[in-house]
Amino acid sequence: MPRELASPARFLVVLDADSTLIQDEAIELLADEAGSTDRVAAVTERAMRGELDFAESLRERVATLEGVPESVFPRVVSRVRPTPGAEQLIAGVHAAGGAVGVVSGGFHEILDTVAADLGVDAWRANRLQIADGTLTGLVDGDIVDAEAKATALRAWAAAGEVPLARTVAIGDGANDLRMMAVAGLSVAFNAKPAVREAADVACERVDLSDVLPLLGLRG
Ligand SMILES: [Mg+2]
Repeated sequence: MPRELASPARFLVVLDADSTLIQDEAIELLADEAGSTDRVAAVTERAMRGELDFAESLRERVATLEGVPESVFPRVVSRVRPTPGAEQLIAGVHAAGGAVGVVSGGFHEILDTVAADLGVDAWRANRLQIADGTLTGLVDGDIVDAEAKATALRAWAAAGEVPLARTVAIGDGANDLRMMAVAGLSVAFNAKPAVREAADVACERVDLSDVLPLLGLRG
């Protein structure tokens, strides 16, 4: 189950999930199961051209999943590939008394297992609406967008009694820019040019353990 940060921490590291904590985009794995890969790619292209905002593009992509049985989730989870260095980063942060949060425009139905397996302390994501064991094609509840990511970082910092100056945000996409602006240190990870430009530092290699030296910790 999703968790919220409960205890004090020395510092807080918040990661995006898709293409940051994991090498995959959850919606693309789900679309593959739904047979809607082409439709999802078309929506993604329109979003990248600026024709749709994140919430609109998420709703349109989730709509292509209507009718998919919830029994696909374990198979999708098994296809998720954690990013190299993810376990080292999380272990290193924990060893130094820090906490790790993950906030995702993807889905709880996948992240609940992935984040728990990786030892993440707190996470938030979107939730897919399910009726009679089948995806309805709707998102359940509020959408986790750029603002919600920044809100999660602030909430976890408050819960962990961590000043914002001792928070770190790591992400690859435009959707991560708000939380990166709030954090004391922002790290563009395997990121698009606009995100690299906005970030304090950029990691070019796809290896999350490269973040440890940026935190003054050994990789
Ligand atoms: Mg991402």
